[in-house]
Amino acid sequence: MTVTIDPTAATRTVTIAALATRHGKELLFAPRLAAIGIDVQVSPVDTDAFGTFAGEIDRSGTARAVVEAKARAAIECSGASIGLASEGSFGPHPVVPFARLDTELVAWVDAASDRTIIEGVSEFSHVPGPVVLEAPPGDIAAEVLPISTGLADQAAIVCIEPADGSRRIVVAKGVVDPAVLRGAIDEAFVRDAGRVVVEPDLRAHLCPDRRRVIAAAIDRLVLRLASRCPQCDAVGFGRLRTMPGLPCALCDLPTTEVAVIVDGCEVCGCERHTERTGRADPTHCDRCNP
Ligand SMILES: [Zn+2]
Ligand SMILES: [Zn+2]
Repeated sequence: MTVTIDPTAATRTVTIAALATRHGKELLFAPRLAAIGIDVQVSPVDTDAFGTFAGEIDRSGTARAVVEAKARAAIECSGASIGLASEGSFGPHPVVPFARLDTELVAWVDAASDRTIIEGVSEFSHVPGPVVLEAPPGDIAAEVLPISTGLADQAAIVCIEPADGSRRIVVAKGVVDPAVLRGAIDEAFVRDAGRVVVEPDLRAHLCPDRRRVIAAAIDRLVLRLASRCPQCDAVGFGRLRTMPGLPCALCDLPTTEVAVIVDGCEVCGCERHTERTGRADPTHCDRCNP
C-alpha cells in the first residue's frame, strides 16, 4: 500500500502523545510522529515491570498485549489521551538456519475514541549471540568482546546461570568498557559455581540494531496514522486482512498465496479490496506440490 503523507498535517492542531519508555525511544518516535503533527512526550512508566530482556522479570502475556498495556500505562501516568509504546521479541529466523528474527511492535492507543492501532516489522537480527563461559577467559578481547564490538555502540550484560537451575542472576548491564566487562566476569565467577553468560544488552538505547527495526515499525505506524478513511475521515485506514486463492501458474486452481488484500476502516467498516494480478508459484499449490 502506498500512502502519501497529508502535507497539511503539520498545520493541524498539535496532538500530544505520551510515550512509555525508559530507554530513550523518544529519539526514535518524536521526529517521525512530528511529521504528522503529534508531539511525543515521555511518560514515567516503569516499562521494566512488563518484562525485561535480561530475564529478571518475565513478560506477562503476548507481545501485542504487552505493547498495548504499556501504551495504556503511558496514558494513565501522564493524563494525555494518546499513548505510545513499543515491544520487541526475538525468535528463530523462519528461513535462515541459526539466525534470529527481531520483531518490533509499536502501539498507538487513543483513550478518547477507545481505538488501538498496532503495527510491526520483523527483520533479520544482526545482534550477536550469547557467549557461554565455563572458566574465566584468558583473552577477553578475543573471546567475549565481539559481543560489544561486533556492532558499534552495542552494550553487553554479564549474568550467572546457577547450576541448580534457579533464575539467572544479572551481575552487570549496559557494559561498554572492556575493563568493566573483565571486572564483571571475574565477579561472576567468584560469586557462583554456575555458568557465566555474556550477551548483548537488548535495551533499545544500548542496542543499535533494535533501534533500526523499531524505527521501521514506527514508519509503518506513521503511514497508517496519516492514512484517513475515504468515507468517514477517521485515521488508521489500512490493511485489515488478506484472502488466499491466487491461481496456480501450472494448473490454475486456487493456491494458499494471497489473492486479495483488504484495506479498511475499523470505525465505519468500509473496505477496499485490491486483487493481486499474476499467478502463484506451483510450490504453493496443493495439487502440483502436495
Ligand atoms: Zn497447481
Ligand atoms: Zn471510516
